Amino acid sequence: MSNTNRQPEVNIGLVGHVDHGKTTLVQALSGEWTDQHSEEMKRGISIRLGYADATFRRRPDADPPECYTVEESVDGETTDVVRTVSFVDAPGHETLMATMLSGASIMDGAVLVIGANEPVPQAQTEEHLMALDIIGIDNIVIAQNKIDLVRDREAAMENKRGIEAFIEGTVAEGAPIVPVSAQQEVNIDVLIDAIEREIPTPERDADADARLQVARSFDINRPGTTADGLMGGVIGGSLSQGRLHVEDELEVRPGREVEEGGQSEYRPVETTVRSLQAGAESVEEATPGGLIGVGTGLDPSLTKGDALAGQVAGPAGTLPPTRDSFVMDVDLLDRVVGEDAQEIEPISTGEPLMLTVGTATTVGSVTSARDEECEVALKRPVCAPEGAKIAINRRVGSRWRLIGVGTLR
Ligand code: GDP
Ligand code: MG
Repeated sequence: MSNTNRQPEVNIGLVGHVDHGKTTLVQALSGEWTDQHSEEMKRGISIRLGYADATFRRRPDADPPECYTVEESVDGETTDVVRTVSFVDAPGHETLMATMLSGASIMDGAVLVIGANEPVPQAQTEEHLMALDIIGIDNIVIAQNKIDLVRDREAAMENKRGIEAFIEGTVAEGAPIVPVSAQQEVNIDVLIDAIEREIPTPERDADADARLQVARSFDINRPGTTADGLMGGVIGGSLSQGRLHVEDELEVRPGREVEEGGQSEYRPVETTVRSLQAGAESVEEATPGGLIGVGTGLDPSLTKGDALAGQVAGPAGTLPPTRDSFVMDVDLLDRVVGEDAQEIEPISTGEPLMLTVGTATTVGSVTSARDEECEVALKRPVCAPEGAKIAINRRVGSRWRLIGVGTLR
């Protein structure tokens, strides 16, 4: 059973190397297992962004950090709600950096999980920290996990010094490093205390037009459901501003692909909000912050299998433009992050780039490149405002590697 009783108000990313314990930590904090997708279960990795809500609580009779818990009662005493948070569990598998980056656009802060039983840094520890840096997520807590596997105190301290040296000069410099065992649920109270101090709920304009960043989309019907029994498509994401109500009219951009005379283009789709899910509950109004599920009147074939992930929804006429191409200011890293650490060559005309814009990931072809700006033509358009941050990835060997950040002109 879920222990959530309020709407989540902040999104916290779980990032770090594969197998360092992100999903186990989300489970310890929320009682939910984010690897729900059956394929993910089989492969044991979070293929898509998993998410789970947790309500942090405090015991009235104790002080921080010992007072913090996720239990509704401790020793027969009811605990008080502090706040509900949504965890975005990013995958650590190296080929899935794109998923981590699209999740990063809705993270207000992050817990970087580092296994205490391995040398620091492992490849994705470094790559994910770089991604947080590039996207500008500076509210960071470090969970030094698997402390139960470390030989003794000195080994734990040595690993901690390794972490300190690694984060020096990065966006995580000075972040609290909390030794935990996600599996044994050790020091979870201290971790919650650090999250409470380091990752505040950001101010958001709840009175502006709703802007939903879509991270997932689903068809929740069982195979073989008859037409009368069909439920409309469901989209999941986070409101960066504004509120949504049941019965609100929504526009979704870029929308659906339509073929006409051999040409294909995207057209916005319009629909009505039929239901809202926030935390574990159905609500009439969803507020900005955590992750929500929106039941719509859309044909479920449109939302099936994350087909609308990366899109943006809000009242018709209020959304940013759909762009098939754009010019961006470019800021390249010096080196590719990771073991090989190659130098990064300037972007050249004609090369393919993988771009993450908001929750959207799209491949673009560079149509014109200068030192500090380039123009790209996109395979799939994005809906994004001027000034949007873009994570730029280049193909290096067999995989996409993060090479820099762009700002949409
Ligand atoms: P993720 O890839 O970062 O999501 O890692 P998982 O949460 O899937 O954990 C990977 C493996 O490490 C699993 O077998 C977990 O049971 C194990 N694990 C996670 N946290 C701990 C811990 O604190 N101590 C120990 N001993 N094992 C852990
Ligand atoms: Mg995982």
